[in-house]
Amino acid sequence: MIKPDAVSNGHIGAILNDIIAGGFKIIAMKYIRLSKETAGAFYAVHAARPFYGELVDFMTSGPIVAAILEKDSAVEAFRKLIGATDPAKAEAGTIRNKYAKSIEANAVHGSDSDDNAEIEGNFFFSQVERF
Ligand code: ATP
Ligand code: MG
Repeated sequence: MIKPDAVSNGHIGAILNDIIAGGFKIIAMKYIRLSKETAGAFYAVHAARPFYGELVDFMTSGPIVAAILEKDSAVEAFRKLIGATDPAKAEAGTIRNKYAKSIEANAVHGSDSDDNAEIEGNFFFSQVERF
């Protein structure tokens, strides 16, 4: 997901370029604004964390881009491409290092396991075919 901060700061194109240059194939993609209900459900795993309410507010503050990406070892490769959660700790050249402003407004989301990638892909898309 490209988060609302990166969308409103005009980084959609640059981030997609980095993703494609990183060898990922885009399988599905959409541009939408999440409702509180949808964002809350997406981040339900973080419901007990102190920043959950703010995270939901932030994720609904403007449109996002959701995509399903494909690559060998995609979860690990994508997390390497995006860098650490806190952009101040993200390695030089990573998407969060280049485009993120804070630990909350951190430009992108990446699935943290193959199982969650499946769940999150199904959350945003139906009728997805590999091609
Ligand atoms: P994501 O799941 O969005 O790819 P991540 O896996 O690197 O990020 P998580 O620990 O899953 O990090 O946290 C989910 C999101 O919650 C973060 O991307 C960030 O937007 C927000 N977040 C995490 N930690 C904090 C914090 N300490 N304060 C505010 N927001 C936070
Ligand atoms: Mg996470």
